[in-house]
Formats: sequence, C-alpha cells, structure tokens
Amino acid sequence: MAKKKKRAAKPTDEGLRVLVALLNSNDAPAFQAELDLLMEPLGADARGFTAEWIEGAWAVREEVTGDVSPIFDARSKTKIESGLKNIIDKVNNLDFKLSWSLWPPDKNVGEFQPSPAYERLGVDQGVLEIGKNKWIVPMFLGLPDSPKVYFYGSIISALQSGQFGHMGRCQLNECRRFFIAPRRGYRYCPNNGRCREASDRQDAAERTRKSRKQRLERKN
Ligand SMILES: [Zn+2]
Repeated sequence: MAKKKKRAAKPTDEGLRVLVALLNSNDAPAFQAELDLLMEPLGADARGFTAEWIEGAWAVREEVTGDVSPIFDARSKTKIESGLKNIIDKVNNLDFKLSWSLWPPDKNVGEFQPSPAYERLGVDQGVLEIGKNKWIVPMFLGLPDSPKVYFYGSIISALQSGQFGHMGRCQLNECRRFFIAPRRGYRYCPNNGRCREASDRQDAAERTRKSRKQRLERKN
C-alpha cells in the first residue's frame, strides 16, 4: 500500500495544550505534573504557572469541562453550534487583559520552542518589517494571572485560528481523553493506535455476538 504523504502539522498553541492537560488530569497534582512536562526544561512554576495558579485552575476545571465537552459529545451541527455560542457568549462577558509584545522573527526564541509569536503567523498576524529589520508583534489574551481568563482566552484564540478543530475526544468509551491531533479527523487518541485497536476488537466481538444471535434465531 502506498504511504500517504503527511503534511507538516502547524505547531499547537501552548494554551490549547494546557487546556487539554487540565481536562485530562484526574487531580491537581496530575495537572501540575502534566504542566511541568509541557513547560520543559524550565518547569511550570518558572513560567508563571505557580502552585496558587494551579489551585485556581483546578477550581474552574469543572466549569471549563462543562463548556468544552458538549462540543465533542455533540452529534449534530445544531448541538455543536449551541456549544460554540455558549462559549463565545461567555468570553464576550469576560474581562480580558490584552497585551502586545515585541518578538524577534525567529522560529525559536530562548527557551520557547517554537516561539509563541512565530506560531501565530497567519492571516491575522504578520511580520513587521522596518528597513532591514523584522519583528513580530503578537497580541496575547490574559496571560496566566487569572486561570479562568487564561483558559477561556486559550479556547477563543484556538476557535479564531481554527486550531480548536485539531482537538478531539477519544471515541473509546473506556478512554474519552482529549487530545490534539496533527490533523483533523482523528477519532481516537493518537497513542500509536492503541485506542483504535481496542475499539476494533470491541466491534469485532460485537459482530461475532450479533451473528451468533442471528444464527440461533434462525434455528428456532
Ligand atoms: Zn483513547
């Protein structure tokens, strides 16, 4: 079978990765551990995600999960739309602190790989060129000070950029973890196909059970 050429995936916004870590963690220490992994090599605390911030994040987890889950559990466009509108209405009523900053035009800047400014380049974010010099001036929404503003800011940024469409929720009932896939259309965690294989095995067992039942029914 010919291998399909994979297009290089655009790097995912850090806010979306932090959101997925929150949704998938079973308790605050697990979330802290996930954050430390995401923020390597500095660790979460050094990046401003302090123990206090993590406590605040844990306090809004239920609200965030309640707003995000319906979009992934919905089976119709109407239901997805009502989930999206609910989030957009909430975001429009939150107090965002907008901030802009000056970044070099490089892919990696210091400890950031890739640079959070560089990964925003697209239709709404350009490179500023003055003379022979280049910069990127990105806008950030409510940086870590308020966890609630941070999470809803991350969600709305990902809705605006379209990256939210790369987020998925595993269809395997025993898993249901959220994930960010390199491309749209993933139905299971991209964990080397383990959840997809488990689901295939369940489907095969279900088919065997059904055909056995049909055979029995035909006999009677
Ligand atoms: Zn899974």
